[in-house]
This record gives sequence, C-alpha cells and structure tokens, in this order.
Amino acid sequence: MKLVLATGNKGKLREFKQMCQDEVVPFSDLLGKFDIIEDGDTFADNALIKARTIYEKLVAKNSSIDYLVIADDSGISLPVLGGAPGIYSARYAGEDATDKDNLYKLIEAVKEKGLKSTPAYYTAAIAIVSKYGEYVVHGWMHGDVIDEARGEKGFGYDPMFIPAGFDKTLGELDNDVKSGISHRGKALALAKPIINMLRNK
Ligand code: IMP
Repeated sequence: MKLVLATGNKGKLREFKQMCQDEVVPFSDLLGKFDIIEDGDTFADNALIKARTIYEKLVAKNSSIDYLVIADDSGISLPVLGGAPGIYSARYAGEDATDKDNLYKLIEAVKEKGLKSTPAYYTAAIAIVSKYGEYVVHGWMHGDVIDEARGEKGFGYDPMFIPAGFDKTLGELDNDVKSGISHRGKALALAKPIINMLRNK
C-alpha cells in the first residue's frame, strides 16, 4: 500500500516525515501540483475534501495500486476574535497570502485589541481515505499568542504562539519539542493505529 500525503505545505510535510517512520510521498510527486477548493465548514470537512480529491485522482491514474491518502487541515483560533482565523488560517491575509503575511496580520489583530497576549489554540484534523473507507481524527494544542514574532523555527503562526506550560514561542523551541505537544502530533498518534490497521488488511 502506498502512503500519500495530500499537502503541498513544506512545513507540514517536514513534520509528517519527522513524526511518521513510514515512507510518505507528497501527492505532487505522483500527480503534479494543482489547487483543491477547500469549501467545507470545518477542519474535518476540509481534510476529507483534500483526501478524497487526491484519492480519486490517484485511482483514476492507476487503479492497480492500493493507495492510502492522508490529509491534514489545520489552523489557529483566537477566542478573542470569535475563533478567527480558524479554517481560514492559510488565507487570513488574502487568497495568495504567505505564511509571513498571515502571521503579521494576526499580530496586528492582537495589537488592535490592545493586548500583549491572549489565549489561542491550534486544531488539526487528519483524514485518512483508502478503499476500506474514510476516517477523521483531531488533535489540539492550547497556549497564548503574543503581539510579536519571536524565533525562526516551525512555520506559519509559530513565532507568535507560546504553548501552555512554556515561556518560549514555537519559533524558538526545537522542532522535536513541538512534535511531542502539537495538534498534528496528537492527531497523528490517533491516525497511526488506523493507518496500520488499514495497511495490514
Ligand atoms: P491548511 O493547509 O489549509 O491546513 O492551512 C493551515 C494553515 O494554518 C497554515 O497555512 C498555517 O498558517 C496554519 N497552521 C496550521 N498548523 C500550524 C502549525 O503547526 N504551526 C503554524 N501554523 C500552522
């Protein structure tokens, strides 16, 4: 069975590869790059949309291979902003926004509220699609966001996010510290037994 990751995001791919002993291939290696319209209302909906789209394209290309497609949809939510940016995290500063554009837009939104720091949480939904069916699992990481960017590690909103129990941002903490506590790490811990069960069918 071939494990395919439905993401083009380099930060996510690096984290998946670090957390998964298994050989995972990004979908673009097999199908080239294309955009998927993520128009679901939840992280779970969007993860399933990505996984199903890639799975269907792979099967249409070569139906003799058994594929297991893993998709992640994730983002950061601030209760003080009514849950924003949430499922819109990747395009918070606009359709073609970079991670840096989004990060600095969120820093500005925190500043506009007159806050130095405020609670926030990351959510990750991981969808798994294979011929044996569809599954979705979730993981969360709670903490606070601050009104500035600190550190260069991680990706996305990490330089402004201080996980609960730490006094440094994810931009300053090592990547393996993040893997042990992250929303994606927790969701992947739930996804792994499902992936193994499907691989051994
Ligand atoms: P997705 O590719 O639609 O799931 O977009 C997720 C977006 O949420 C990314 O572009 C990042 O901006 C943000 N995000 C998700 N997970 C993380 C993380 O672990 N660190 C920092 N930003 C994240």
